[in-house]
Amino acid sequence: MNTPAAPAENASNFIRELVAEHVQTGKVQKVATRFPPEPNGYLHIGHAKSIVLNFGIASEFGGTCNLRFDDTDPVKEDVEYVDSIMDDVRWLGAQWDALYYASDYFEKLYEWAVLLIKEGKAYIDESTPEQIREMRGNFYNPGVNSPYRDRPIEESLALFARMRAGEFEEGKMVLRAKIDMAHPNMNMRDPLMYRIKHATHHRTGDAWCIYPMYDYAHPLSDAVEDITHSLCTLEFEDHRPLYDWFVDNLPVSKPQQIEFARLNLSYTVMSKRRLLQLVKEGHVAGWDDPRMPTICGMRRRGYTPEALRRFCERIGVAKNSQTVEVELLEHAVREHLNDLSMRVMAVLRPLKVVIENYPEGQSELLEAPNHPTDASFGVRQIPFGRELYIEQSDFMLEPPPKFYRLAPGREVRLRYGYFLKCHDVVKNDAGEVVELRCTYDPETKGGKAPDGRRSKVTIHWVSAAHALPAKVRMYDRLFSLKDPMEAPDGEWKSALNPNSLELLESFVEPELGTLDPSTHLQFERMGYFCFDKDSTPEALVFNRSVSLRDEWEALQKRGATK
Ligand code: ATP
Ligand code: MG
Repeated sequence: MNTPAAPAENASNFIRELVAEHVQTGKVQKVATRFPPEPNGYLHIGHAKSIVLNFGIASEFGGTCNLRFDDTDPVKEDVEYVDSIMDDVRWLGAQWDALYYASDYFEKLYEWAVLLIKEGKAYIDESTPEQIREMRGNFYNPGVNSPYRDRPIEESLALFARMRAGEFEEGKMVLRAKIDMAHPNMNMRDPLMYRIKHATHHRTGDAWCIYPMYDYAHPLSDAVEDITHSLCTLEFEDHRPLYDWFVDNLPVSKPQQIEFARLNLSYTVMSKRRLLQLVKEGHVAGWDDPRMPTICGMRRRGYTPEALRRFCERIGVAKNSQTVEVELLEHAVREHLNDLSMRVMAVLRPLKVVIENYPEGQSELLEAPNHPTDASFGVRQIPFGRELYIEQSDFMLEPPPKFYRLAPGREVRLRYGYFLKCHDVVKNDAGEVVELRCTYDPETKGGKAPDGRRSKVTIHWVSAAHALPAKVRMYDRLFSLKDPMEAPDGEWKSALNPNSLELLESFVEPELGTLDPSTHLQFERMGYFCFDKDSTPEALVFNRSVSLRDEWEALQKRGATK
């Protein structure tokens, strides 16, 4: 893993340094980058890395960054994805200077293809896809020239026009660049530039039935927009000679492609294709399921754009492949939520408490700060009464050594309240404890006993008469394996964690019925939570964003970063 142990914010990286050098030497006047998603799925945290990098470089050097949809494959693309991508980029806080679609350039790309044909640098190949594959050779053997390679320019021009006019079926012919069938780089062995696809495009409709290949459309889209630095992931390194070939052989500007490592995160899969499978096969509730590594999933889970950006800055940008521990992401989220979250009490797995010496029908208000260190959060009043709920895990009938919470004969402190002592329990027919019989000490309001006696533990609670019922979704990792792709049976989906979602029927302070749903919350002692988008004041639904325990620091101490 490449995550630095003590990462500086805004850490320098080889791309920043290179861009700085280009600016200093005057090689580049005005820095221009772009974020070029294909609208064939929702954005994930890997895309956030690319967004933070592209927009970050542009703003640092006083340049521009475009959002460009790489919409050259009508079959997999959809406006639903276009809209969600714009939402997610905005939510992350990035503002594009211009919005473009590669499909805006279809006419231009066509003209340039004609120009390449005219110059003898491209030709129509009528070989079948299988023949083309065979003639391409392999890593050890050079390819062989297609019999159509040296056909007259006029013939290719005419066929290309007829291809566009829709006269041929799919697979009947393709346009190829004429480069070198013996080139050691397979991408240079007469790569495809256009193929026939009788498919309706989400923007251009049925205007086209030939579509440019990524390797042709991408460098030229960059060139049209005067992009100076075209940042892409490492798998395109071998495509760079082809990228350069297209911009060098056409009368366009010369953007420079620079590759960086893809972000992979432990305990998840990152490719849109696999995420789509999870959605389609119902393993998750949708693209924005809070367990998904998608931006919208993380948003629904209560992660903040600041936390994601900080995480992306921290992991830095490296040239070799990068799997980052998910704990580092959670660490960044926790760090921000700690500052941002209002503290409240919620009892996730309730156990009833009856305070026998508290007068029936009476209640009172106890004051509590909304944040432990930031006074600007203010205070609130929490109702207290004869019947409470406490967390099941805060009581044990027969406590083992080191269990200091409630048990028969034991006393604990109620958060913001009084000392509470348990005398007896009520069991159901199955022998389970369903209610505690307790007393409280009225002299201990605010948690201090006049006689100086202490309690080792303070527990949270809600008043049964006032609490609101709430559904709470406890999310855990979607996969049980650190690298799902290494599942022993070779099937990544078998690594799905069957316990990644636990649904709880809980009770929360009445205050939560009055809050704005964008409020981030810490349920004291239980973790950080947010309102789900399905939550209403009448039917509250909360999602656990992240637990309180920071595993990142423990990981660091154990030196577990491989
Ligand atoms: P996927 O395989 O998940 O579909 P992709 O690379 O095909 O990803 P695009 O929509 O083509 O997705 O990507 C848009 C931009 O985001 C590209 O510049 C791409 O390099 C970058 N990107 C995609 N995935 C990652 C990742 N995991 N880490 C960093 N950058 C990424
Ligand atoms: Mg892609």
